[in-house]
Amino acid sequence: FERELRDRTPITGAARRDAARYLVAPTHFDRFVLPAAYPIVVAKASGSRLTDLDGNEYVDLSGGFGPHLLGYGHPVPAAAIRRAVDSGGVNALGSPAELTLARTLTAAFPATLAVLANSGTEAVQMAVRMARAHTGRQRVAKFEGHYHGFSDQGMVSSWFRYRGEANAPSPVANSAGAQHSVVDQTLVLQYGLDESLHRITDAAGDLACVIVEPMPSVTGGFDAGFLRRLAATCRAHGVLLVFDEVVTGFRVTYGGVQHLAGVTPDLTCLGKIIGGGLPCGAVVGRPDVVGVARSSGDPFLDVHSRAFVGGTMSGNSITAAAGAAVLGHLRDHPGIYTGLERKTAWLVGELRSHVAALGLSCEISGQRSLLGITFDYARPKLIRDRLAGSHTKANIALACYMRKHGVYLPELHTLMIGDAHTDADLELVGRAFAQSLAEMTQA
Ligand code: PMP
Repeated sequence: FERELRDRTPITGAARRDAARYLVAPTHFDRFVLPAAYPIVVAKASGSRLTDLDGNEYVDLSGGFGPHLLGYGHPVPAAAIRRAVDSGGVNALGSPAELTLARTLTAAFPATLAVLANSGTEAVQMAVRMARAHTGRQRVAKFEGHYHGFSDQGMVSSWFRYRGEANAPSPVANSAGAQHSVVDQTLVLQYGLDESLHRITDAAGDLACVIVEPMPSVTGGFDAGFLRRLAATCRAHGVLLVFDEVVTGFRVTYGGVQHLAGVTPDLTCLGKIIGGGLPCGAVVGRPDVVGVARSSGDPFLDVHSRAFVGGTMSGNSITAAAGAAVLGHLRDHPGIYTGLERKTAWLVGELRSHVAALGLSCEISGQRSLLGITFDYARPKLIRDRLAGSHTKANIALACYMRKHGVYLPELHTLMIGDAHTDADLELVGRAFAQSLAEMTQA
């Protein structure tokens, strides 16, 4: 069967082999988690559909890992990008688009100031630096299994390698080349466990911030009670609370998980959707905290008191125009979010019905446009148990079978649907899933 897939993608296969000679990995996914067994090289993307170099068309469930909530090639960002290019495309200079994006972001997260960046990774790095500068403390706490971009700090205990007791993990580098001192200084917590709150209290004296994915991508869902207790613990000890809403920001609702959970963090990291399909990141947060990035006007004083968080392309007019246009569209069309909820619920039900019909041990989870398919899943609460217990080979096989039936799903990543997915697209996904499971269980 694998041969069949390869026979249908000879040009893609050749491009992949060629790319391996000059690119560290032939597609982004290849260098992201595991070498992709079935990478895709896209000739055209439109709405919910991808067409590969061989002319095969797929319903896309990757969403480009997040930015494309409106679908590929959407006219709103496309027109904004064209206008921005026509008027020159500036960076490191002010532009109306930069102001509009910042105003839109701070209106969505009231009583905040914004700093723009070029990726989620950068946003997290900026937030951590501002937290250190504001508190005068050095250490950072994060949660096991939560990914915050590829920086040394962001990747500590983020995936696949965990160490220590489940309720009191010890930090582990998740990348070769990470600086040991950064890793070792990190306090690693467990989401949802009150033991984590005690550990924050114990370490508070030198803890600048706690960073958390309020709705962890790996598990989906969020624990509002835990987030409230976390916020209260942080507040009591002067530790800043940072929400990483790079994935969830403007995806789960207009704003982020914090609006659903009723918890306001000190800083919020954003990325993906806010760039309208172009590279972008941002930190929005308490004016007195983000204000540590403001210059006093005296560079010699600044060296001691200011958190420098600049970037040549940060806030450039083309990205900002695309981002502001997409956010404006989402703000003015709240029906997009109710539609996504409805579509997600339908798809979860549909996929579950096929799993049940075959009596398979496969968990389908999904909420607000984010979905997960996990084989051999016994609903463990902790990410470490979930990864240990799940059958990643089955996920890779599923991706391969789904491809044959016209659906692109990333092999080991949260699935994402968007506004461009029609009911007919999702019905096609349902049929492809039923056929794939039937063929997989026969194989
Ligand atoms: N935070 C979270 C929760 C993420 O999922 C990601 C990327 N998937 C990042 C940060 C990093 O964003 P980027 O890849 O844009 O650097």
